[in-house]
Amino acid sequence: MEKNNFKKHNAFISEEEKTLNWEEVQASFKKTFGNEIYSSWLEKISLIKEFNDYLILGVPTRFFRDWIVSRYLDKILEQVKNFKLSLNRIEFKIIDENKNNADLIKITELSKVTEIKDSILNYNRLNSGLSFDNFIQGKSNDIAFSYSKKVCDHVSRYNPLYICGGVGLGKTHLLNAIGLELQSKNNVMFISAERFMYHFIKSIKKNDMVNFKDFFRKSSVFIIDDIQFLRGKESLQEEFFHTFNSLMDKGSQIIISADRSPMKLDRVQERIKSRLAGGVVVDIDTPDFELKVKIIKRKMTEIENQFQETINLNEEVVNYLASECKTNVRDLIGILNRVIAFSRVNNKDLNIADCKNILKDVFSQIRVITVDKIQNIVSNYFNIPLSDMLSQRRSRPLARPRQIAMFLSKKMTSRSLPEIGRRFANRDHTTVIHAVKTITRLSEQDDEMKKNIHQIKNLLLEQ
Ligand code: ADP
Ligand code: MG
Repeated sequence: MEKNNFKKHNAFISEEEKTLNWEEVQASFKKTFGNEIYSSWLEKISLIKEFNDYLILGVPTRFFRDWIVSRYLDKILEQVKNFKLSLNRIEFKIIDENKNNADLIKITELSKVTEIKDSILNYNRLNSGLSFDNFIQGKSNDIAFSYSKKVCDHVSRYNPLYICGGVGLGKTHLLNAIGLELQSKNNVMFISAERFMYHFIKSIKKNDMVNFKDFFRKSSVFIIDDIQFLRGKESLQEEFFHTFNSLMDKGSQIIISADRSPMKLDRVQERIKSRLAGGVVVDIDTPDFELKVKIIKRKMTEIENQFQETINLNEEVVNYLASECKTNVRDLIGILNRVIAFSRVNNKDLNIADCKNILKDVFSQIRVITVDKIQNIVSNYFNIPLSDMLSQRRSRPLARPRQIAMFLSKKMTSRSLPEIGRRFANRDHTTVIHAVKTITRLSEQDDEMKKNIHQIKNLLLEQ
């Protein structure tokens, strides 16, 4: 088991030399996207830092970043991957054009949060843009918000604080806000569970567990994001449990986020679940209409202030966006950016029909198709139990549907290869690559396969 885990996470631990020639990548952008898009957007992207599995790219403004992320991110990632296979993620940094380059370097040194000395990046850095001030309250997040504030007023009284809720609902934002608030007077550690694992594995490899333990245990405020990542990872859970206990023993405040409540964390040891649930558990729900309107209005004001211009979205359009976006805050902001960008480029006051048009692909596909949904629909389509499709069995009647589901997950969601692998009973990302290749080939050569893919896609889009 232990060994297996190691093999599976190789993608995180191998350290490659820097390999990217940014000019070459830019040239490929130009080819793929065409001159117009290239010169208005992509040309302005710079390479700030390169790591084994991700890149930090520089963009001139926040608006620019949102635009790129909502329209081109998948394709950009795909392109850069041609030059760097190990890549699975891209982060953007906003480079204020008015500042000189010396300031640029400081970007990664913004916060005072502790960092693992040999960490390739100060991963614990807090984002100064995600504070309590710009977190907007509504019915769905009221309790989570107020406990996050209370934790800052009374460190260690509500311990641990566990915030749960689906993606894009503001968990990381709240965790970050707590970190910002407490960092001046406390030794704050802010890390995602995935990064925690990265350091854990690295320390084992280097035979340096003593440092690892010391490092994490010296914080007085320990904030860990996306704890659901521990599911199914026994040795990591073991280590986390010890860290957790020793922090609690010395009275450190612990704040945790997850996509589900503690008791629903399957494949996590019972004793850990009950410790996680032992303090205060609060959840964030999907935003109601009122909150969505508030968020849209606030974002519009922010953009207006930032660019010193008026944004013309009338009440009717605002209400339309708020009622149509049914998923989460992240999507809501993405949609808003898209609409604003369109109105700006075309210099036009928009009506609902325009918005419908601009957003038709967003509402019909990107937002609603998830790996879960794909797995369900594919297993139904082939009439096999989902558990069999995800199992380790390799017989063709199971393997083909499994590969099709992986293929569609890659094509129809923005999940990375390792993420998809994890959703398929913790398979390696190379298995996903193989599936994508196989199905791509078969759907070109084999009419039956072509038909299957076509029908499944339609089922997904009809949902
Ligand atoms: P999660 O961690 O739950 O997936 P995030 O904290 O990353 O979600 O939130 C997604 C995006 O939505 C972020 O840009 C965040 O700032 C924004 N956001 C979420 N909830 C709110 C809110 N109540 N007020 C303002 N912005 C929000
Ligand atoms: Mg998050």
